[in-house]
Order: sequence, then C-alpha cells, then structure tokens
Amino acid sequence: LDSAADKVRNLGFHDATALRAGGAVRIHGISKSFGSLKVLDDVELNLPAGSVTAILGPSGSGKSTLLRSINHLERVDEGFISVDGDFVGYSRKGDTLYELKEKEILKRRADIGMVFQSFNLFPHLTVLENLIEAPIEVRGVDREEAVQLAQELLARVGLSDKINAYPRQLSGGQQQRVAIARALALRPKVLLFDEPTSALDPELVGEVLDVIKELARTGTTLVIVTHEIGFAREVADTVVFMENGRILEAGPPARIFTQAEHPRTREFLAKVL
Ligand code: ADP
Ligand code: MG
Repeated sequence: LDSAADKVRNLGFHDATALRAGGAVRIHGISKSFGSLKVLDDVELNLPAGSVTAILGPSGSGKSTLLRSINHLERVDEGFISVDGDFVGYSRKGDTLYELKEKEILKRRADIGMVFQSFNLFPHLTVLENLIEAPIEVRGVDREEAVQLAQELLARVGLSDKINAYPRQLSGGQQQRVAIARALALRPKVLLFDEPTSALDPELVGEVLDVIKELARTGTTLVIVTHEIGFAREVADTVVFMENGRILEAGPPARIFTQAEHPRTREFLAKVL
C-alpha cells in the first residue's frame, strides 16, 4: 500500500496518510465511459469521516454510477478512489496504478453499505434471516451474535415486531427500513443511499427519511442521492449538484439552496422545489 501511496503522491495528491481516517472517502479525478458516452468526467470529491453528503442532479447525470464506483461495483477508467485509506486508481493513460484483487474488493465492500431505491431484500428470507445472512457469511460472526445485532437494529428502525415477517408482508417503507438495518448489520463505515425514497408512496417517505436522519447523528459517513430537497437541506453538511457526469458545484446547503452559483443548479432546484 505504501508504494501505491507514493504513486498517488506522484500524481499530485500529497495527503495520502489523511486518507486513512475511518470512513473518509476521497475521489480524485475519476472518469468513466460506457462506450462513447462519458458518464463521469473528472469528478473530484472529498468526504470527511462522519460527513453527510447529498447528491442532486437530473436523471442520467451519473449519480448512480458515482455511488457504484465508490462501492467498487463499477471500475473507473481513470482517477482514484479511496475509502478508509484503501485506494484503487488508474492513470490518465489507463494504466493500472493500484488495483484491488476481487477478494480484497469483496472485503472492502463490506465496509461500504449500499441501500437501493428498490429495497433488494431477499424475498424468500424472513426479516431476521435477511439481517443475519451477511454478518455470518461475510464477517464470520456467530449466529447468536448476529441475531442479537439484528434485534438491536430492528429496534432502531422501529420494526422489532416484524422480525419473522417476509418482505412481501411489509409496506415499502418498512422494507426500506429493513434494507437500511441490513446494511447496518455489517457495521459499515460508509453508507451509500441511491434514491432511497423514490419508489415509495408519498406517505411512507417520512419514516425512511427519519431513520436516515437518525443515522446522520451516529458518525457513519453518509452519501445520499435524493430528490428530497427539504431533507437534504436539513441533514446534509454538503450538497453536490451533478450534471452530465460533472460536479457543477458543491457546498453547504444554506448556500446551494439560496445562492447557487451555477445557473443550471438554480434551474434544477426551481424545478424540484
Ligand atoms: P443517474 O443515476 O444520475 O440517473 P446513472 O449513473 O444511472 O445516472 O447513468 C448515467 C448515464 O450512464 C446514463 O446515460 C445511463 O444510461 C448510462 N449508463 C449507466 N449504466 C450503464 C451501463 N451499465 N451501460 C451503459 N450505459 C450506462
Ligand atoms: Mg440513478
């Protein structure tokens, strides 16, 4: 890792040791294309440990690809990404700078939870089984301990009474709260949310946002792609506006929502507010 850190220093990034703070995410000059379509274009983002970042932007602007890159579900073409000090990176010429082995990626991914729009619970497993599967399989936690953690997490998302239910017996809001509890069961340092309330009926949005708000107080680094402007304003330290694979601007919500510099940001906000 140290020689990789040297290579990163040679790229002009000098603070390689600061990358090792728990839960910090550093995104440096990443680009990604699908065929001839450039989906991420020189994205630069620094997420301190424990920070809450909301990502806004029109459909197709690259928000999901950015989250998937952080979680190593996509391999970027260039730039580097570090999560909690472990980085992957590619040079501008496309040479590998530092690449994690698949096994390493799986291990790292366990530290980076992801919650999707569509809940993605295992339909054939009960709530409890959904929550204990990964801790036992990925972390090697024993069953008793996994069950105890599952009970704690279900209490935290207000669903203790649903422990033996199947996903189909739950409302969308309840399923999403279980999905959040399931992500937390791996004790992630970073939690990524991709439009976590977009598939919900309006009356169920609040209960999910309340759970995320609560998480924002616990020191887990959160990155949330959302169209819920009021929520972003209340919870995020930093709001990022993306368009065409680029970050057009980023800053504290108080500034972005009232005095965005970029006309495209203002235009977008006027539409969603
Ligand atoms: P957003 O989440 O902001 O809506 P995405 O990151 O999902 O944007 O997608 C950005 C662009 O990349 C879109 O034009 C989308 O169609 C395209 N894209 C995403 N994933 C793939 C893929 N696996 N193959 C080809 N094109 C993709
Ligand atoms: Mg998306």
